[in-house]
Amino acid sequence: MTNKYIYFVANWKMFGNLRTLNSLNKVISFVKKNKQRKFRLIYCPPATLIDPLKDKVKSTSIQIGAQNCHESENYGANTGQINSSMLKSVGAKYVILGHSENRQLGENDITINKKIRSSIKSGLNIIFCIGESLSQKRKKMTKKVLSRQIISGLKKIRNKDKLIIAYEPVWAIGSGLIPKEIEILEIVKFIKNKVKGAKVLYGGSVNTKNINVLKKINNVDGFLIGGASQNSNNFIDIIKKTFN
Ligand code: PEP
Repeated sequence: MTNKYIYFVANWKMFGNLRTLNSLNKVISFVKKNKQRKFRLIYCPPATLIDPLKDKVKSTSIQIGAQNCHESENYGANTGQINSSMLKSVGAKYVILGHSENRQLGENDITINKKIRSSIKSGLNIIFCIGESLSQKRKKMTKKVLSRQIISGLKKIRNKDKLIIAYEPVWAIGSGLIPKEIEILEIVKFIKNKVKGAKVLYGGSVNTKNINVLKKINNVDGFLIGGASQNSNNFIDIIKKTFN
């Protein structure tokens, strides 16, 4: 990869408790020892761990993100929901939005757009996930699907400074499968043409083996990592290999 900052975003999904945070001691000392390396580390734990994690990483460059939020930045009668301003108030700087696991639960482009707008208003940075399903890929609809997700998701959003896009093919998430290098290269180029100036990450089954291939795709600005980020040794290994 080139001389730019590389993002490593850990999406812990529904994983972790207060004890699990101890496993981050290794990551914290790795980050402190590697201050000269050009990477940005963002941990997105479940909302229950944002506040304790904030305390734990306060003397480091590690930043914290949330995994989703409600579409309104105001309080309301929405049992079980958390909004972007509440996340900001406990220490989140980022929020993952549009993740396919939430799209599969019924989230659509319109609600994602509302969530992005409310999160920007609350001062959060957005990690906006887009990606095609396997059947859409087989029907050669990838670019059409991504275009729709981008146009609808980013409707009425003029200031894209707070935006990172994560290209996550749905079929690659948690499956151990990844697209060919040439496909990622082409899709990332396509996304960067559509959203000028955006950083674009790749996500979907990134692991300690395939990082050796993925790190060579030079228009990728970093990685959104699910399963492999839950194990600190694996996560550190991925970062180390990216720079070796
Ligand atoms: C994700 O959930 O965003 C993700 C990339 O998961 P995994 O790395 O486990 O495929």
